[in-house]
Amino acid sequence: MSDCIFCKIANKDIPAKIVFEDEQMLAFHDLEPQAPVHVLLIPKKHFASLNDVTQSAEDKEILGHLLTKVHEIAEILELDNGYRLVSNCGEDGMQTVQHLHFHLLGKRKLTWPPG
Ligand code: AMP
Ligand code: ZN
Repeated sequence: MSDCIFCKIANKDIPAKIVFEDEQMLAFHDLEPQAPVHVLLIPKKHFASLNDVTQSAEDKEILGHLLTKVHEIAEILELDNGYRLVSNCGEDGMQTVQHLHFHLLGKRKLTWPPG
């Protein structure tokens, strides 16, 4: 999508501090980190949120691929003591960027429940 900030990052139209990239996904540091490590994992395909993901073989492949890469990215980031993966969805979820993303947070003891 042309006016989507994360599509622009995926297309390299705007810069980001990338930690992992392959043909289907990208991981980059959040601009406003909420933990010592705060990275965003996005599929390169535009989905507005998890609500946009279908049962198609393509969507299952993309989401399955992304989720099975999480532990590799956690290893790159040396999150050896654990981490949290979260996706905010819609208004109540406090989603602010309308391109599906997963927050990967770590390197501090995270509190539960989130606010
Ligand atoms: P959410 O509120 O769950 O939609 O998360 C959006 C996240 O994107 C926030 O944590 C923002 O700090 C982050 N963010 C927004 N724009 C950028 C950007 N250009 N580069 C990196 N992170 C961004
Ligand atoms: Zn997008």
